[in-house]
Amino acid sequence: MPHPIKAYKLVTWRVNKFFENNPQADMSRSPRKLPSFPKVVDNFRKAVIKDIKGGRKRVTLEEYFARITECTNCVMRQKKRCSHSDCGCWLAKKCWWANEKCPADEPRWTESGV
Ligand code: SF4
Repeated sequence: MPHPIKAYKLVTWRVNKFFENNPQADMSRSPRKLPSFPKVVDNFRKAVIKDIKGGRKRVTLEEYFARITECTNCVMRQKKRCSHSDCGCWLAKKCWWANEKCPADEPRWTESGV
């Protein structure tokens, strides 16, 4: 049984590989544009503040895969990242953060579950 931190890294790495090999949920759509770099930095800054204020909680493996499944099947996913203008995050990492939620108007997953 790998150490929990190693297991966490291993799962994240595997999910990234999966997303690389399965670039988009809907290949009939032209690739979506990711938010600009300054916007991604700003979104990430907000997410980090929210994460720290929320006690840096992480979800269970079961919750993580439920979130990853939603992102896998979402047209907003652009390879490893979410192309929503309020996101731009690397999903394999973001989905671990318990205080995060899907940024869509009708979120596919939230802090309280999928
Ligand atoms: S976070 Fe939400 S909008 Fe972004 S790829 Fe995942 S399910 Fe889609």
